[in-house]
Amino acid sequence: MCDFCTKHGDGKIWYKNAKNYANDLMADMRRRDYIHSFLDSTIGDGIASLGRLETIFKKKKKLPARLVTAMVEKAKDEHYGQVVPIEDVREIVNKAATVARMPCACRWAADKKEVRCCYAVSYTPEIWHKNLDMSYFGSIGDDGFETLSQRDAIVQMEDLEQAGAVHTIWTMVTPFIGAICNCTQKECLGLRTLSMHVQTLAKGEYIAAVDTSLCTGCGLCEETCQFHAISDQMVDGGETVARVDRNKCYGCGLCRSTCQEGAINLEQV
Ligand code: SF4
Ligand code: SF4
Repeated sequence: MCDFCTKHGDGKIWYKNAKNYANDLMADMRRRDYIHSFLDSTIGDGIASLGRLETIFKKKKKLPARLVTAMVEKAKDEHYGQVVPIEDVREIVNKAATVARMPCACRWAADKKEVRCCYAVSYTPEIWHKNLDMSYFGSIGDDGFETLSQRDAIVQMEDLEQAGAVHTIWTMVTPFIGAICNCTQKECLGLRTLSMHVQTLAKGEYIAAVDTSLCTGCGLCEETCQFHAISDQMVDGGETVARVDRNKCYGCGLCRSTCQEGAINLEQV
């Protein structure tokens, strides 16, 4: 289990702890203010500085250590993510009182494209996202939200996984959990910071394991993994099978859903 589980999990995986979705956390004025300006200040400002940081990183191959520490601390305090496999997405969504789909703020910030792949979850009938300033998307009020049944939300997220998206869960001032996003490395601000070794997003609570007796070495999982955690390996008899680097795996489960042989499982860390 991760350090968030120790701090916020009450003995469970922290994002399975209903307390972290509790509406009484919304009484906190700092959180209310943060949510109101979230799209402009966290996402809008974030995308502007991300471009500059990527230029520095490209030239120097690293970012200043103090800056990295400050970015990670800020993320952990305000808006921190973790990779979550689809079975845990199902568990979270099935406990929610309301689920609403909204446009992805990262994609909108990057190129003003409206792609609806983020899901606000609330465990009480009173929704937290009424405080979000949706005028950021050029619409007003709650018009940008579509309330969905739990089943529809899960089916949509299963389809997003088939299309190559990694499920991630995000806090709105930690430990309050507000949303599940479905991201690819190219578009998600959080995943983009990871490629500069800035950990604004935690690894999942699982790691992929390959059953080499079933693996045919087709290489599909290696192509699918956004974290470059899979390579091939020669085994006795000269056959090639997939090998997972446990240090690189984020436990997203995309390799598992890609494998036609059922050769990959996720194991809890
Ligand atoms: S997709 Fe499955 S069968 Fe193909 S290399 Fe990966 S684990 Fe092996
Ligand atoms: S090895 Fe599989 S579970 Fe691990 S990060 Fe890559 S795709 Fe995700």
